[in-house]
Amino acid sequence: MITVQKFGGTSLSDEQGRRHVLRHISRERAAGNGIVVVVSAMGRRGEPYATDTLLDWIGANGNALADRERDLLLSCGELISAATLCSLLTREGIPCVALTGGQAGIITDGRYGFARIVKVDPAKILEYLAEDRVVVVAGFQGMTEDGEITTLGRGGSDTSATALGAALRASVVDIYTDVDGILTADPRLVDDARPLAFVSYEEICNMAYNGAKVIHPRAVEIAMRAGVPVRVRSTFSDGEGTLVTHADFVRGQNGWADRTVTGLAHVQGVTQLAVDTLYGPSDVQLRVFRSMAKNAISVDFINVTPAGVLFTVSDADAPLAVRLLREMGFETRVQSGCAKVSVIGGGMNGEPGVMARIVEALTAKNIPILQSADSNTTIWVLVAEDDMVSALQVLHTAFGLHLVP
Ligand code: ADP
Ligand code: MG
Repeated sequence: MITVQKFGGTSLSDEQGRRHVLRHISRERAAGNGIVVVVSAMGRRGEPYATDTLLDWIGANGNALADRERDLLLSCGELISAATLCSLLTREGIPCVALTGGQAGIITDGRYGFARIVKVDPAKILEYLAEDRVVVVAGFQGMTEDGEITTLGRGGSDTSATALGAALRASVVDIYTDVDGILTADPRLVDDARPLAFVSYEEICNMAYNGAKVIHPRAVEIAMRAGVPVRVRSTFSDGEGTLVTHADFVRGQNGWADRTVTGLAHVQGVTQLAVDTLYGPSDVQLRVFRSMAKNAISVDFINVTPAGVLFTVSDADAPLAVRLLREMGFETRVQSGCAKVSVIGGGMNGEPGVMARIVEALTAKNIPILQSADSNTTIWVLVAEDDMVSALQVLHTAFGLHLVP
């Protein structure tokens, strides 16, 4: 059996964390499993080898680096991490080998900075595992067919881990991080957020796409397609964390029947745009969305009615979007400083009254809903950014998420 273990930046950033990392590796090894370890760069911005520190370094030195060379530089953080871990494993008498993403067989397309994995050839890893070595792979990076080093974008080490897990048919991909698992909401904003024992691939994918930064959504998609179970768990404890697996399995668990809402997620920095169409030319709607698409502005929360179109863009895209709309002569109302709060749960499918409970909870706190939308597993509400934290807290309580066992 092969286990993939991924350790995030905070898990590796100091000696105490690295001791825990060694402990988890030794435990899996003692259980007789082949182990592939995926590492992120050590630490966060300000710490010497963190990804953001490398970016700041370039920024401070003129920032004239081309995309290709930028990826070359960024890939170093994970290499330092991998070499460091190998040194510690060797000291413990554990045979090991460190590999770049490319050496590990991770082949990507050539989009520097946000490359996509196109295939994984695990042959070399399998050879090293057969020699009973722990294989330490630098996360967040790959290589093009013609040998160029690429990086996978933010959260890319999660993707490295599940892609390797899928290619190696691993029994599990363990994502070790600085919290006890996937929690019912971001613990930095909701004090009584609780770890979930089980979530489905779909639920966590939804949470991740809606802003929960605990795992990258692309990583979940890869695991889901391959049917590899993922566990999100703490580096700093021996807790089992959260098992991410098929919805059917999750539904069979205790407590599922009562679970309408699984968790909350949020995205800040959203601007709402409203364009009146009632007295404009008949193709206003078409022209609005065509122009956004042509300028690569991603739109969300779209409501189209005979009276107008209402949608959101990120604050970063807002100035361009507003300029484009006004250049076309459209009356545009702009509401910046919004946040999207998502209420997510596989169990809300067909369950009546979920929206009513959301409206009731927010109204009781005088939080205006600026817009809303829903699918069968998610309800989104747009609120003012200033209301976001209290919206999360009141919804968390309203759906009993603080009581999750
Ligand atoms: P790593 O460096 O291990 O990849 P990340 O910072 O990427 O760690 O992800 C872990 C962080 O995600 C946690 O510290 C937590 O603050 C944040 N987070 C946001 N939403 C959630 C959630 N629903 N459950 C757990 N953690 C969350
Ligand atoms: Mg992460």
